[in-house]
Amino acid sequence: MTFMETTRTATSSEAAREFKPRRKGVLASLVAGTSLALMAACTSTNPYTGEEQLALYDEAQLAEASAQAWAELKASTPTIESGAQYQRVMRVWNRVAAATPKAGEAWEVAVFDSEEVNAFVMPGNRVGVYRGLLELVENDDQLAAVLGHEVAHAIYRHANQRASRAAIASGAAQVGGAVISGGTDGAVSAEQVAALGSVAGNLGVVLPYSRSAELEADLAGVDYMHAAGFDAQQAVRLWQLMEANGGARTAAFLSTHPDPATRRQRIQDYINSKGY
Ligand SMILES: [Zn+2]
Repeated sequence: MTFMETTRTATSSEAAREFKPRRKGVLASLVAGTSLALMAACTSTNPYTGEEQLALYDEAQLAEASAQAWAELKASTPTIESGAQYQRVMRVWNRVAAATPKAGEAWEVAVFDSEEVNAFVMPGNRVGVYRGLLELVENDDQLAAVLGHEVAHAIYRHANQRASRAAIASGAAQVGGAVISGGTDGAVSAEQVAALGSVAGNLGVVLPYSRSAELEADLAGVDYMHAAGFDAQQAVRLWQLMEANGGARTAAFLSTHPDPATRRQRIQDYINSKGY
């Protein structure tokens, strides 16, 4: 999920405008010419998955960039810090997190006292759950499906991919062009990373994930919840609920995930193939 991006679209478009090309034709060809090379030069091995992936940003930079957004959100939205709902989130979270490649890492977990049907993860191991989501789910298994999905975004470093792609697409590839031409081996210098860092600050936490990233998080999330002892079939039921019973509260979900039926089917196919 991670629908909170949709609540920050104004910030996102402002960020995009900031990098709007002045000479469109020149920049377009520059972007086209450098994007592939930039992507090839700026991958790194994800220590959790072992996969090479696009990563223009240092994870620590993204964690720092998200710290401010996290603090602002906690300051502007009331949080629930005790009681049954809080305990439920912590109980399910601890089981799911312990069943992932990030087991044992420190996390900040917040329960927001809002009827919004939402959950999200931010770089730096920060996860948020809204009361509206807790009221929508029918059981802990469905909550585990949400939390498994969110921790998967963190494990697959989707925020880094998202910010990297956004930087390239929005014209920050001009910086990337300098990166490519300035280095003998395609390596990114500390100064160049710093130049890109301001882009991360704006884009790192505000744009929706790609559909392929969402699917990847869906399937990995199912693995995690299953490993934690929850009923993976409830992941399919969760998305049915989101679509059918969320009403206006899930408008953000429906706009960022345009084909929930296909998504449910792919989760069901995966569960069947795994024998969960
Ligand atoms: Zn997601």
